[in-house]
Amino acid sequence: MAVLSIRTLPDPVLRRKAKRVRTIDGSIKKLIADMLETMHADPGRAGLAAPQIGVSLRVIVIGMPGEEDIVLINPEIVKKSGERLLDEGCLSLPGYFAEIKRAESVTVKGGDRNGKEIRIKATGLLAQALEHEIDHLNGQLYIDHLESMDKLRKVEGEETGL
Ligand SMILES: [Zn+2]
Repeated sequence: MAVLSIRTLPDPVLRRKAKRVRTIDGSIKKLIADMLETMHADPGRAGLAAPQIGVSLRVIVIGMPGEEDIVLINPEIVKKSGERLLDEGCLSLPGYFAEIKRAESVTVKGGDRNGKEIRIKATGLLAQALEHEIDHLNGQLYIDHLESMDKLRKVEGEETGL
């Protein structure tokens, strides 16, 4: 396992559509272990998508405080409902935040770390994190949801990033 450095804009890997994982072999297991270790290296990290460590594959991890880590392979949003405005930041765009629109609740399906299909219905920070990380797999960043880059705010110090 290793703590890897997080890719930041304008690294092109962040803009690539990530490929589906076909088989969960040793390299995928190692990728998941490295992603979890990289996420836990800093308490301000609540989630990570594989492209953020330079691997263009559809794998995400999420770590909510006090909850068991979530690993999803080839995740897809199958249902979204409601709408809310919230603050969002991204580890690949450090030092900035903006208010964006996200769903109130999402249902996501994907494989767990052993490839078994799971479904997660989420609200709150978990729903936001799932939408954010799945956007990363499609080469999207939260700033793509902004009407203008003037909405981006600079922040000092540590806040939760995805
Ligand atoms: Zn992000």
